Amino acid sequence: MRMEELDALASELFPEVVRIRRKLHENPEPGFEEWETSRMVQQILKAHGYIIKTGKEAVGSFTGVLASLYCGPGPVIAMRFDMDALPVSECEKESHIPVKEGFCSRREGWMHACGHDGHTAIGIGTGILLSRMRGKLSGTIQLLFQPAEEGCRGAKAMADSGILDNTDYFLAAHIYSREILKGEEADFLPAVEGSLATTKLNAVFHGRTAHGSMPQEGDNVNLSLASALLNLQAIPRNSRGATFINVGTINGGTGRNVIADQGKLELEVRGETSELNQYMEEYALRILKACAMMHNTRVEIETTGSAPSIHSDLQLAERIRKLFGTPESPVIPSRKTGISFPASEDVAHLMKRVQEHGGQAVFMLLATETRAALHQPDFDFNEEILKKGMLVFSETTTALLSKTRPD
Ligand SMILES: [Zn+2]
Ligand SMILES: [Zn+2]
Repeated sequence: MRMEELDALASELFPEVVRIRRKLHENPEPGFEEWETSRMVQQILKAHGYIIKTGKEAVGSFTGVLASLYCGPGPVIAMRFDMDALPVSECEKESHIPVKEGFCSRREGWMHACGHDGHTAIGIGTGILLSRMRGKLSGTIQLLFQPAEEGCRGAKAMADSGILDNTDYFLAAHIYSREILKGEEADFLPAVEGSLATTKLNAVFHGRTAHGSMPQEGDNVNLSLASALLNLQAIPRNSRGATFINVGTINGGTGRNVIADQGKLELEVRGETSELNQYMEEYALRILKACAMMHNTRVEIETTGSAPSIHSDLQLAERIRKLFGTPESPVIPSRKTGISFPASEDVAHLMKRVQEHGGQAVFMLLATETRAALHQPDFDFNEEILKKGMLVFSETTTALLSKTRPD
């Protein structure tokens, strides 16, 4: 009965949630600058009875939002939705649906190419839906809207702010290509177990400039940059599992006949487990420092983002799977058959914090037809998944906070 009621409510809300998603898609905002997105989330949820907290003091970031709805004594359930866009220029072909239907990005060079417009719309829709179910629930709903997921920058500070420390259940999800389920009929997966832990680093080298014909008078950072690039990419593999490194940008010097005194590398390391990532990070830091020392330059290293590996609680995943009846297995097969989620997600910081305080957490995949891979200029998804997303979050919440729940 509850399921049918929610299904009817989600169908009724669906056109509005599509409108919200399209509005967000038109206005993709960079990480930590999601001002208008954050304002929209706050306005709508406040109008539906939620108590809003925002800002660095309250939730650990200026644009982050925590929207809470108290529905009586009982468990606390928290849900995470990310809001940021990517520095990608959106495809302009007529066959791209946002172009055809008039809602493509209006911000030059930026695009919602990772589906976070969909995630935020699902979060708002779920909030509205659950506010209508309030009388039938007992417990507290906390909707968390996170900035700067890309580059794994936004979650750590929100976790450290302590807003999740009394959470009993934590849910998060990502829109994903259906192909990942490899023939499964299901359009969602209750848990990801394992993901790539990662650390993002900037290394700024400082040297001493001189005339190109008097190199002995200078300390050339380009030598440090080049040595670092080759040695970083040559870090030995690790027999315990997959490791990755990428030096994504290299910039140094000002002119052909000038000894370079400023340079920068932007790089990332990843590992199949948090331990493997740590192996890569420590090795990379040694190389950066050694390459500065060998050419008498100085290096400043900054960590710009990080994420541990994701671990979902299988007990909670199994409860969610039973609600929906599919698929057969609640998790993507993990290490034995390869990396289960071949990417990084800083939701892992939030999950870890909840788990360290005795709560259970899952990271789910909402599987649908996508056009192009994530982060591509022609990425788009079937908007039907917005309804499925609302149902996954709201049905799980109503089951866990139901006044008639068995436990
Ligand atoms: Zn992404
Ligand atoms: Zn994403």
